[in-house]
Amino acid sequence: MSNIHAPNRNTPLAMELKESIRQDGPMTVQSYMGRCLWDPRHGYYRSQRVFGAQGDFITSAEISQVFGELIGVWAGVIWRNVLGAPKTVTLAEYGPGRGTMMRDALRASRVVPGFADAARVHLVEASETLIEAQRATLSDFSDRVTWGADLDGFDPPAIIFANEFLDAWPAAQWVKTDEGWRIRGVGLDITGELQFTDLDGDCPRDAFEALLPDAQLGAVIEAQRLDQLASTLKRLSERGPVVLLLIDYGYTAAAAGDTLQAVRNHVYESPLASPGEADLTVHVNFYDLASALHRAGLDLDGPVTQAEFLGAVGIIERASRLMSANPQRAAEIEAGVARLLAPNGMGGRFKVLAARSRGLPSLPGFRDPAADEPPGQARDAGR
Ligand code: SAH
Repeated sequence: MSNIHAPNRNTPLAMELKESIRQDGPMTVQSYMGRCLWDPRHGYYRSQRVFGAQGDFITSAEISQVFGELIGVWAGVIWRNVLGAPKTVTLAEYGPGRGTMMRDALRASRVVPGFADAARVHLVEASETLIEAQRATLSDFSDRVTWGADLDGFDPPAIIFANEFLDAWPAAQWVKTDEGWRIRGVGLDITGELQFTDLDGDCPRDAFEALLPDAQLGAVIEAQRLDQLASTLKRLSERGPVVLLLIDYGYTAAAAGDTLQAVRNHVYESPLASPGEADLTVHVNFYDLASALHRAGLDLDGPVTQAEFLGAVGIIERASRLMSANPQRAAEIEAGVARLLAPNGMGGRFKVLAARSRGLPSLPGFRDPAADEPPGQARDAGR
């Protein structure tokens, strides 16, 4: 599904960006990504494009209902065994998209007695268009759902989910040039079209040289601003116990690489091709993420791959039960689950990281490395 060489399109936002670059000069990649997603008039998340089968992204919850159901049961177990069954608990979600995962989670959460009555749902969403979609999806639960735009607009004890949320956070990039590391930006070529360029400005050159002494010309380093998320979790933790479950496309080792990508109508294209009309994302650096959360005083579980996490919380068992109960849908359920677990697809490329307020015990779903048996023994034991 690649259309990377298609010419740039003159979208309304492209015209505005070109005009502003003509007047004020090139902008950083981070500002470009921010404008493409959140421009007040033409930003991707302001529009209707993201909806339905015609939408650009299909996330795990939309591939299989089992995904949200497992998250709901997991949250119920956390409420009971980790938080000690408090009378009320906030189930918060950052960037719920169409609300599918929360709907499936709430439906399944009834299997943990008492949990559904204790749970208040709070959705953190910046897009008015998506809030409307979430309201429709969650209409059965409307008496206990609230919305807000702030990452900490709810009360602990809280269990917070974020699936494919951080990949939509604008990333800064730096590029290695023959003058050394420089900020990567977006400017205009001689025909007046958008093109990547490098910019003057402060750049941690020495640190980058030390990190990647052998980087080739054109190598890119990328970083998201994770301090806001980390400090939010720190503040929330000071008010009561918090558990955060983050799932995203990403990598776990420090590395160079340009992961900015654009998808429009399920087809990859250049991130400069359709400003405001394509979904722009980056891959999450879980090494940076884990470091930021740890520095903020949280304890961590994972990261593990999505396949490992879903396996540990019982995806096979749940899917089998669902297939027996709905034999006419068995093939569809099996195909969905296979897609979530595929080692070269979502199962391996998506990572799961949990963070918890200090003092809480480690969370289910993340294997304890100390409990690992040498390979072979586990198999012999028939597990
Ligand atoms: N979690 C959903 C949707 C992922 S799309 C799913 O898995 O299907 C990313 C979501 O994050 C959208 O709902 C988008 O509007 C929201 N979002 C991105 N950045 C945000 C921010 N800074 N504040 C609030 N919501 C944000």
